[in-house]
Amino acid sequence: MTLPVIVIGGGIAGSCVAYFLARAGRPVTVVDAGVHAASMVPSALLNPVRGQAGRVPERALEGLPFTWALLRTLVAVGFDIPHGATGVYRPVPDAKTRAKFDRHCPDGLDAQWQNPDQVPFALTTGHTAVLYLPEGGWVDGAAFTRAVREASGATVIRAQATAWTADAVMLDDGRTLPAAAVVHCGGSVGSSWAGLNGTHRAGTMLLLDRAATPAPVSFGAYLAPAAHGGVLGATFEAPTTQWTPEVLPLTSLKWLLGKGMALVPLAGTAVTGTWSGTRLSGLVAGVDANSVWCLRGLGSQGFLLGPLLAAELAAALLRHGAGDALSP
Ligand SMILES: Cc1cc2nc3c(=O)[nH]c(=O)nc-3n(C[C@H](O)[C@H](O)[C@H](O)COP(=O)(O)OP(=O)(O)OC[C@H]3O[C@@H](n4cnc5c(N)ncnc54)[C@H](O)[C@@H]3O)c2cc1C
Repeated sequence: MTLPVIVIGGGIAGSCVAYFLARAGRPVTVVDAGVHAASMVPSALLNPVRGQAGRVPERALEGLPFTWALLRTLVAVGFDIPHGATGVYRPVPDAKTRAKFDRHCPDGLDAQWQNPDQVPFALTTGHTAVLYLPEGGWVDGAAFTRAVREASGATVIRAQATAWTADAVMLDDGRTLPAAAVVHCGGSVGSSWAGLNGTHRAGTMLLLDRAATPAPVSFGAYLAPAAHGGVLGATFEAPTTQWTPEVLPLTSLKWLLGKGMALVPLAGTAVTGTWSGTRLSGLVAGVDANSVWCLRGLGSQGFLLGPLLAAELAAALLRHGAGDALSP
């Protein structure tokens, strides 16, 4: 009997690793505690131009079409994944910021400057220009993650892995599962459970009764459509070295509302709930010193880069035992 590859963690990273391994014919088991997954974010941006400096991650130009292709593949076979290939709008406050964005913009990225009054919805005043990224958009993180995991056909075990080696995983119910290989995709909470220090940053999405804009708008925080209404959110809490249970301090709520209203007039919009999560920075993709495969630390780019990096990791693992390159 062929032993399965065991993937620890069923967020977007682990689900995509499972998907690409399974597509290549490998039996896969996903062990997922199913708690505190950043991938359950109600609306994630596919935005290649990051932060307030407008940096473009090295692999963004490959990651963006790869994620869209995977999403379309899943939608084509019947998965319901709320999303919008609407583009992303990045309003900038001054000429200095615009120059920074321009400096970081690579050849090959479709990025179009517009005057604020050209944008097809009302922005709050005070922006000098708006960068429109037609290839970006938004996706329901939870629906996308579940669809990839389900499409993988992997056996899913709802449990916490308490210890593992290169060829076995111990579970909190006392079982030990033998494995052909082990891949750790534990995200923020799982890295802390594994005793690893890292840079963890919590954030919150305010769930809105309506989408404040028809396409995502982002600077400091983001407003985006979602499956039901819209969201206003960001990962903005002070970084910690370990995952800690998320809370929403009133000061954060005030900060977030201030950031949202600095982007778009929000009068008439109601907050219907909140969702909080934690992202882990410091990408680790490959094999560790104990011969355990890892994909962790996707930062705020889990949906932009996660599928691409997962496919590459799966291909590397297969090559280890002979496999082929993978595409969505
Ligand atoms: C507020 C917020 C907004 C964000 N916005 C965006 C965005 O706009 N665009 C974007 O691309 N990204 C965004 N991100 C980042 C993105 O959500 C993450 O990069 C991504 O979800 C990380 O995925 P992951 O699979 O590595 O980890 P996770 O999604 O955290 O999944 C880890 C899973 O592994 C399980 N697990 C861990 N350890 C074990 C174990 N030992 N045994 C069993 N199970 C285990 C956990 O329970 C969890 O289910 C945002 C994050 C937050 C918090």
